Amino acid sequence: MTGPDDTDDSEEQRDDRPDSPPRDDPGSGPGVPRLGRDEQPAVYGPDYQFEPPDGLDESVVTEAAHPTADGPPAMTSGATRTDGGASTAGGDLDPANYDAVDVFDTGDLDLRDGSDSCYKCSTCDTSCPVAEVDDSFPGPKFQGPEQWRLKRKEDADIDPSITDCSNCMRCDSACPSSVPLSQMHNEARGEYVEEQMEKLSTEYVRNRILSNYRFFAAIASRTPRLANFVTGLSVTQWAGEKLLGITGEREFPDFAEETFREWWRKRGGAQVENPDRRVAYFHGCYSNYNTPEVGKAMVRVYEAFGYEVMVPPQKCSGTPMFANGMLADARRHAETNVEELVAAIGEGADVIASCTSCSLSLRQEYPELFDLHGIEDVADHTFEALEYLRIHEDLDGALADAELDGESFAYHAPCHARNQGLARQARETFADVDGVTVEDVGDSCSGISGTYGWKAEKYETSMKIGAEMFEHMEDAEGDVGMTECPTCAMQMAHGTGYEIRHPLQLLESALVE
Ligand code: SF4
Ligand code: SF4
Repeated sequence: MTGPDDTDDSEEQRDDRPDSPPRDDPGSGPGVPRLGRDEQPAVYGPDYQFEPPDGLDESVVTEAAHPTADGPPAMTSGATRTDGGASTAGGDLDPANYDAVDVFDTGDLDLRDGSDSCYKCSTCDTSCPVAEVDDSFPGPKFQGPEQWRLKRKEDADIDPSITDCSNCMRCDSACPSSVPLSQMHNEARGEYVEEQMEKLSTEYVRNRILSNYRFFAAIASRTPRLANFVTGLSVTQWAGEKLLGITGEREFPDFAEETFREWWRKRGGAQVENPDRRVAYFHGCYSNYNTPEVGKAMVRVYEAFGYEVMVPPQKCSGTPMFANGMLADARRHAETNVEELVAAIGEGADVIASCTSCSLSLRQEYPELFDLHGIEDVADHTFEALEYLRIHEDLDGALADAELDGESFAYHAPCHARNQGLARQARETFADVDGVTVEDVGDSCSGISGTYGWKAEKYETSMKIGAEMFEHMEDAEGDVGMTECPTCAMQMAHGTGYEIRHPLQLLESALVE
């Protein structure tokens, strides 16, 4: 079954692309390596059998040194970690050891180099926000190296507590020995869900629904007013909790009356043509269906700097799927995304994401977990939107004459932004702009971690983790929040009642409006 799909315009867009490489030869464009990681073993072999329940199938570098606006360390190849992992390396580990691995088919669990690199310092455990508030959670050291050691010794089952990890990935950047913790967690969770979780259980069905948000958002966005009315009913929230285990404590996000992609088509696509300055926008699901104003801000700001913006066909980045162990779903989406982004890169574009979880997924999780042609090139060409401008443009100069109207923001850096070395970017960008105060509310986790805080049994944990951030937001000047992550924004609004904006929206106000 093919789900509702806003990539229906893909053929039209492909035809519009100047000098597009042939679709059966994605490696023919400039800068695209002809050999990807195809020779390497994959998490999912081609004969992998997985039939999703009816109604849910949405059949959807070489060492590179990007300078980073936050300073070194630079991004390295897609096979390595992004900044957070690589920068904390002890320096004596070969990142090539952490390539995509075959977990399920051969039993050759050689993630196990990583297990041996763990010297049990427990730094990861002390950085884990779930372990901090939930004494029953064994922590990342157990979920990662200890489980993999056990599995090497005997084919032990994955401990069910792997589903209590929120996939915030803070442990990744905390480890001083570059143990590939999140890769281990993702693979353990995938194995647990595939081999041990009951497929007819409420938990599995709920997690599958949450993971495939894009599928349901595409349906809801066809009649957004009706969808917003129905999801806003208290009986809907009640039924969601009772029948599916989706917390009734949160209000469902509104669907936009016009998606980002509808707006993009109506305006006639790119308003700037510039083959020398092209970016391919990976808008992700939330900016498309719920907050198209973020995507519009991205387009307007980039066009103001003279960039030609491309909006390739795309599916979910896979972030919620990784967090729920739905690796087969994630791989299907990744196949589309990688193919389309490789084509865009072949046309001279870099890939820009406005959601830090999407950029982290493309940069780190894809090459860690999947074996797809061109995946390293995608990882290596992907940037968060503000990060890219700080690298390539004189943002300070552009903002020197900007005047904003006395706005104060309580800024939260998402955990996935921290993993990419982007924790300070919003504060630094607006530090000298007249009329703006951006106050960092500290380095705590927001607690929602995508779908985690939407699960009824995780809601209290999610709010306990978020309590420090809420308190700091309320202590900050002003009552508007700011963050790059859409689900952190949900949590910030839920915990404080504040309006939340994306740094791109402030940039748009300063430079375009
Ligand atoms: S921080 Fe790294 S080395 Fe220390 S216990 Fe955790 S995984 Fe092992
Ligand atoms: S990803 Fe986050 S929740 Fe999971 S073990 Fe690591 S720090 Fe803890």
